[in-house]
Parts: sequence; C-alpha cells; structure tokens
Amino acid sequence: MLTLAGVVGFPVGHSRSPAMMAAALGELGLDWRYVRLPLPPERFADAVAALGASGYLGVNVTVPHKLAALELADSASSTARAIGAANTLTFRDGAIEAENTDAGGFVAALDEDPRGREALVLGAGGAARAVAWALREAGAEVGIWNRTASRAADLAGALEVEHVERPTACALVVNTTSVGLDPAVAEQDALVAVGLGGLEAPTTFVDLVYGEHPTALERWAARGGARVVGGLEVLVRQGALSLELWSGRGAPVEVMRAAVGAPDPGDGRIPG
Ligand code: NAP
Repeated sequence: MLTLAGVVGFPVGHSRSPAMMAAALGELGLDWRYVRLPLPPERFADAVAALGASGYLGVNVTVPHKLAALELADSASSTARAIGAANTLTFRDGAIEAENTDAGGFVAALDEDPRGREALVLGAGGAARAVAWALREAGAEVGIWNRTASRAADLAGALEVEHVERPTACALVVNTTSVGLDPAVAEQDALVAVGLGGLEAPTTFVDLVYGEHPTALERWAARGGARVVGGLEVLVRQGALSLELWSGRGAPVEVMRAAVGAPDPGDGRIPG
C-alpha cells in the first residue's frame, strides 16, 4: 500500500506544508505522498479515524482542529497534553498518537537559550499557548499580553506565568497574533495593535506570522537592532520534527526552507 501523510485543516488550500514535505521526502528518497486534506470540523473525527486504515502514517493538523486532534487520539505525549493541543497525529498499530511539534519547532527556530530571560508573548490563541508553554519550560520569565485581556489572563493563569496588561521593553518578544498577515498594514498600526507602540525593539524578535517577508513588525524590530526569527523558520522546524517522528530520520531542513521560500536564518539580521 502506498504510504501517505498529509495536512488536515479547514481551509488548507493555502498551506505550504505539501511543498515543504514533498521536497523533504524527495531528498530522503522516501516514496510517500503528502496531501492536503480539507476537513470541516463536523467531519474531522470520523475522517481522521479512517485514515490509519487507508495507508496513512500520520497527519499534520492545523487550524481549527488542534484541540480536536488531541481529544480524538488514543494516546498523547506529555507536551501535547500540557499544551492542550496536537499538531501531529501518528497512526500506529491501529491507534492514534498525538504530539505537539509547534513547541519544539519554535524552540529550534529560536536557536538561543531563553533561560532566565524576560520573554513577552503577544497573543493568547492557539499559537500563543504552545510558545508560552515552550518558553516557560525552557526557563524564561514569561509574560502574556493580548488585545482581549481576559484571554491573556486565562492563558497566563493556566500556565502559571504573568499576565501583562501594558507591555514594557523586553529582551525577547514573540508575536503570535495574526497582526501582520495583511501585508498592507502600516508599521505604526501594527505596533499599536499588539501593544508595542512607543517601545524600544527587543534583543530578539520572533514573528510567527509569515507571508510577506519581512513583516511590518519584523521591519520595526530589525531597525531597532534585533535579531529576527521569521514565521517560516518556525513552520519549517515544526514540520521537520513531525517528519522525524514519522520517518525516524533526520529532516533535511535546508531543503525544506528552500521549498517554502524561507530565508537562511543566518545571524537573524534583516538588511534595512
Ligand atoms: P488564533 O488562535 O485565532 O489567535 C489569534 C490571536 O491574534 C489572538 O490572540 C487575537 O486576539 C489576535 N489578533 C487577531 N487580530 C488582531 C488584531 N487586529 N489586533 C490585535 N490582536 C489580534 O490564531 P493562532 O492559531 O494562534 O495563529 C496566530 C498567527 O500565528 C496566525 O497568523 C498563524 O498563521 C500564525 N502561526 C504560525 C505558525 C508557524 O509555524 N509559523 C504556527 C501557528 C500559527 P484576540 O484574542 O483579542 O482576538
């Protein structure tokens, strides 16, 4: 039977994972097919349960299914359970195993030790949860700010980190909001939207948003001298971890970067 893997989401037409994974599989010489699986929420559980019997080794899971993916799995890693969401499902021996590689992918992309550093996470949605958890586990002093303050308070409470009501300058800042997805957004408007108006750039800035590169917030951070890590690097690293889980082999990260148009991270300096 043909070995299959894929990405489940709704919508999923925009996903860069198929191109990234096809390039990686080619480089590894693995004759698998990696496909897009658009599934509306009401079909998610039944359809995913059937995939294991149809030659699927595993699937990546994206919006809006990450919580449901954890719920339907027969077993889950401690990371996925602690985050409360799964982005990777593996079908093994008739059972479904859940993992969350968003957290490990973020840490790999960050590529520096945040232990003991102040880290500000902007946003309180699904991505914020994985990032804030990963930073806390890595020993950072984590604060969470969000446009809707009650969501930041809830997430900070659940993770036992600080709820930040008014951001101040901080060594490490991570944007997990969707601000910047619209390439037309003005830099100043983006800064105000995420509570950073009037603040100095951090030492390191990570923007989970990808699309237009650099994003408005990345331009601001780079001009202020920050080392900048882009959302495509995070995407590549979480995909690499999923592929390693399924294949048991090291993922060809450079090939994956090239396939999605991610810049080489280099020293993280964006030419102004
Ligand atoms: P989500 O659960 O829908 O959360 C969206 C977050 O953005 C919320 O905190 C929301 O604040 C905030 N937000 C939305 N519009 C805003 C605005 N105009 N001003 C201020 N805040 C705003 O989404 P998610 O799954 O966490 O994803 C968030 C972003 O990260 C998306 O752009 C996604 O593509 C990206 N992402 C990237 C990767 C990667 O691998 N690079 C992985 C996951 C996600 P409220 O609570 O106030 O609505």
